[in-house]
Amino acid sequence: MGFKVQLNVFITCGEKVEEKKIKLQDKLLDWYKVHHRKLPFRESHDPYKIWISEIMLQQTQMDIVLPYYERFLAAFPTVFDLAKATEEQVLKLWAGLGYYSRARNLHKCARALVDEYEGKFPEEYQKALKLPGIGPYTAGAVLSIAYNKRIPAVDGNVLRVYSRLFNSHADIGEAKNKKAIEKIIQELIPENARDFNQALMELGALICLPKNPQCEICPLTTTCKAKELSIQNDLPVKRKRIKNKKIPVAVGIIRKSDSIMITKASTALLNGLWGFPIAEGETEDAAKAKLLSCLKNILGHEPSKLKIIGNSKHVFTHKTWQMTLYEINLPETLKEEIMYQYEKDKSADLKEEIEWVTRNNLSKYPMATAFKKLLKVF
Ligand code: SF4
Repeated sequence: MGFKVQLNVFITCGEKVEEKKIKLQDKLLDWYKVHHRKLPFRESHDPYKIWISEIMLQQTQMDIVLPYYERFLAAFPTVFDLAKATEEQVLKLWAGLGYYSRARNLHKCARALVDEYEGKFPEEYQKALKLPGIGPYTAGAVLSIAYNKRIPAVDGNVLRVYSRLFNSHADIGEAKNKKAIEKIIQELIPENARDFNQALMELGALICLPKNPQCEICPLTTTCKAKELSIQNDLPVKRKRIKNKKIPVAVGIIRKSDSIMITKASTALLNGLWGFPIAEGETEDAAKAKLLSCLKNILGHEPSKLKIIGNSKHVFTHKTWQMTLYEINLPETLKEEIMYQYEKDKSADLKEEIEWVTRNNLSKYPMATAFKKLLKVF
């Protein structure tokens, strides 16, 4: 279902979108008033305390965060105290929470707040986003909870509630879908943005759980599409992503006067297209060593002079080639020898075809995109 259509789920039996929106907001806010957890950082609207708690809660559970939060606030009660501290002092208090880049950014951000904003967290979303360690979620959470701004704070909990409420099958792992969801949530935020945003997050944390959501006690049970269709446990959709591994690749640009050697690869990855001799390795040096030994097989000797003439990268679905281009200039006679040897080997089980072509004629050969890109580099 498209995102625009999802919002129109509200229009039923002549009921207007606005009326449905208000009903949903009221149900959620009434529930939140009674059922929200009493947490130390919710006792005030101090942006400093809210910001610290939000950073600590990223990738860490509430019960683990609470003692850290108390100790941190006791040591650095204001943003000025945090900005004055050394990085070592900050990291010492963070020890055990993990993801230490969060602590380093927190420290940098405190210094930026003191230097650029006299210690006050900016109220403008775009300014907040420029601070170290502040992304769309944290900016939305701090600005809505501290200053009651109508800005969405969409975390994993909210994405889950949203997907179920609107029967959305959009992959929540995709940035464009997350952005579209943020836009729709923004349209739903009432004047009391502070409580509404927290209520959505709290509903996801306490009731609309990843497994076995507590629909029977959920305030939105009568409006929820996933509940109506009994597909709560199928949502949200988050497709598994294959990790894209970075692989160093050495590429040989072998020249002989006016021509360059190209090879036709038999691997599935390059699909029988033309390219240049290459070698993958665990490191750049290992790739270069492999290329040298591969060239030794083709040329009959290991080339002595390898000059780096450029770099390029190509992203496949499961790996990224980080290519270093090595130029090798051969004397004319060697080319004849290579081709003689090549013709001999061809009758055996040589896996690659070889051709010598001028630079201008290279574009006439069907080449894999990874290699076409290289034509711009040398
Ligand atoms: S009814 Fe169930 S699935 Fe729907 S929002 Fe509530 S807890 Fe989540």
